[in-house]
Amino acid sequence: MDEVIDGEEISARVREEVAEDVASMDRKPKLVAVLMSDDPASETYVRMKREAAEEVGIDSETVHIDPEESEEKLLSTVAELNEDDEVDGILVQLPLPDHVSEENALEAVVPEKDVDGFHPFNKGLLMEGRPRFVPATPKGVVRMIHEHGVELEGANVVIVGRSDIVGKPLASLLLSRDVNATPTVCHSRTENVEEHTRKADVLVAAVGVPEFVTADMVSEGVVVVDVGINRVDGELVGDVAYEEVSEKASAITPVPGGVGPMTVASLLENTVEAARLRDADDGQDSSS
Ligand code: NAP
Repeated sequence: MDEVIDGEEISARVREEVAEDVASMDRKPKLVAVLMSDDPASETYVRMKREAAEEVGIDSETVHIDPEESEEKLLSTVAELNEDDEVDGILVQLPLPDHVSEENALEAVVPEKDVDGFHPFNKGLLMEGRPRFVPATPKGVVRMIHEHGVELEGANVVIVGRSDIVGKPLASLLLSRDVNATPTVCHSRTENVEEHTRKADVLVAAVGVPEFVTADMVSEGVVVVDVGINRVDGELVGDVAYEEVSEKASAITPVPGGVGPMTVASLLENTVEAARLRDADDGQDSSS
């Protein structure tokens, strides 16, 4: 019998905590999303983040840039936001048009406002085990596992997927002395992925292939976290074959209603953290 790890419910608790944090602050934090795309999925993600921010009292704005515009236009927009004292968090919604370098765009955001945690400086801090902004999806994944009462210390956690936004930062977070798990990261060149996944106490699927993880790839009692969001015939489908895998899993996240809402909630936490860090810096500046 499986148990569903309810991302909606856990993220509602996180958002409540964030709302309390915001209410206790002297000012409202502000989050700005830069959207250089007319892809409906990207527009939806940005709208969801914005609505979630406003619900917890975070000011939020979306800056639209025509996808035909130059990379220079994007970089100068980010530079202005970096300088804008009102703005605490900046996120550049991915993917970007082909003629724009993702690397340049992500590096353009000052690390202090990089609430996505994608700037190399923040990635480095996470790898060193002293994270400032943990990318929202890995942060949400670990939080939901903890909140569900699953012990990560000493656990074998197998991640399928090594992307810069999910697999790699999740592995770093799991290795941290706060979590103390033992991560294994699989990717498209891994031989016999199923030999790894069957050894997992906790399996995280971040592959981008609908229903990639099947029942024969997991052991009885595994905890399964499905990061995947794939559109199949207009339906959202995860990277895990939910029906069959849930027969063997002791706990599993659904799609939708699993990792997605946790990602949004974690971004809000990072935004509040950014505002606090900036206020603390200002305090130091004025006292020196
Ligand atoms: P990505 O950048 O496309 O990375 C996919 C990873 O899966 C790569 O490391 C790739 O290996 C690996 N992979 C692909 N086919 C494989 C195979 N047959 N066997 C083993 N590994 C394989 O994807 P992503 O950005 O991490 O996203 C993964 C999924 O999560 C997508 O469905 C995405 O929409 C979803 N997502 C959801 C959230 C959320 O909030 N819920 C957030 C982010 C992403 P190589 O590196 O060797 O190519």
